[in-house]
Amino acid sequence: MAIEDNRSFTHPLYDFMLTVPGLSLATGRVDQLLTWGLTNSLWIFPMATSCCGIEFMATAASRVDIDRMGSIVRGTPRQADVMVVAGTITVKMAPRVKKLWDLMPEPKWCLAMGSCAISGDFYRDLYPTVPGIDTFLPVDVYVPGCPPNPEALMAGMLRLQEKVRLQREGKWAPKESRPETAKMIMPALRRINDPARDPSVDKAQLDSAMKVAGSEPLEEAPTPERMPPRSAEPVPIDGDLQALLTAHGVTEIPRDAPPLVPVARHRDLAEQLKKRGFRQLVTVVATHYPDKRDKAGLILTPEYYEVAYALRTVGRGSQLVMWRVRFEVPDGIDSLYGVFAGADWQEREQFDLIGVRFAGHPDLRRILLPHDYAGFPLRRDHASDAPCAPWR
Ligand code: SF4
Repeated sequence: MAIEDNRSFTHPLYDFMLTVPGLSLATGRVDQLLTWGLTNSLWIFPMATSCCGIEFMATAASRVDIDRMGSIVRGTPRQADVMVVAGTITVKMAPRVKKLWDLMPEPKWCLAMGSCAISGDFYRDLYPTVPGIDTFLPVDVYVPGCPPNPEALMAGMLRLQEKVRLQREGKWAPKESRPETAKMIMPALRRINDPARDPSVDKAQLDSAMKVAGSEPLEEAPTPERMPPRSAEPVPIDGDLQALLTAHGVTEIPRDAPPLVPVARHRDLAEQLKKRGFRQLVTVVATHYPDKRDKAGLILTPEYYEVAYALRTVGRGSQLVMWRVRFEVPDGIDSLYGVFAGADWQEREQFDLIGVRFAGHPDLRRILLPHDYAGFPLRRDHASDAPCAPWR
């Protein structure tokens, strides 16, 4: 007997049954059985990056219970049928998402949950955000909302089941469009199904994802020196803080801002404050000020950075002390690593976003943005919607 050509799948057992007289009667049923089995056992690989992930978890909990659809949620792309992207995807995350998608076996489907995954939402035009996952993944179902509730996600899964069923039966499955697509401006990158999309973007995205996967290893990070051991006993605050600041070059304590400390005295001040009980580095925040010019273009005030620090005592009756350091670009500032372990990541973050150089930091690499990101996005001369090829 001739084997049908328009089957929605192939399987050695199915092919054998078609060759056995009489058994062909059962093949229609087997096809339906397999379709029923697949649509009711869609295993989910959750790509939950932010608040929509909480709604996803609620969908898996007892009230809505996504398990009743036969769906199993597992933290691995292996054997997964559906990737549910729930949350904002950044340009640093996108290559990882793409790589995980490629690790999922065919056939596979993608569900975009929430406006961040669909379009980037209110982060859409910002430097770190991918303007919709359909700029690098083929999305099958869109579940709009901020966040969509569990019932909306269940409705999306039912739509996906129907789409899978139609595909397996060889029927036309209507393509879902992005909600409100017609009213929205185009994303920074053309969507993956857009005929106007530049095909070279596909290759660039794949290459970028492969780089993340380790085919081109990143530069080896240096091993930071070990921090000195912490003393077991809290140190009581002693002495006059104002006198200490004055001894470190502070000439004025403004009413509406922390005092300015000379660059050369700043690390010593931090050490002295730690000895007086301020043992927790709460924050390091840098701000960039571009130069000011007159109408003729002459520089009135050169470009500079201001870095604000906050320390606190630990335990009951906690106290806070803050100071600022100001210096011209491209000068740097002494790192507080070696005094406070927490300076490690906090200073890396300020380097990554603003470009401040911390002298003596053992591992001053980017931390939030991709390692090949160009520029420092929180400097005031950086365009907030700067592209970051090949992801936005
Ligand atoms: S769509 Fe709303 S709820 Fe979902 S990740 Fe974005 S901001 Fe959070």
